[in-house]
Amino acid sequence: MYTCWKCEEEIPELDPSFIRCPKCGSRILFKKRQPITRDIKTD
Ligand SMILES: [Zn+2]
Repeated sequence: MYTCWKCEEEIPELDPSFIRCPKCGSRILFKKRQPITRDIKTD
């Protein structure tokens, strides 16, 4: 899963030869972090 930094479009799969956001055309994408499941309470 990748996320476009610009429009925050989520791209589940990318062609390595054509890395581009299909929505806005930005080529700057970053891997989406997996949600960290910990028992941390902030209250
Ligand atoms: Zn985009």
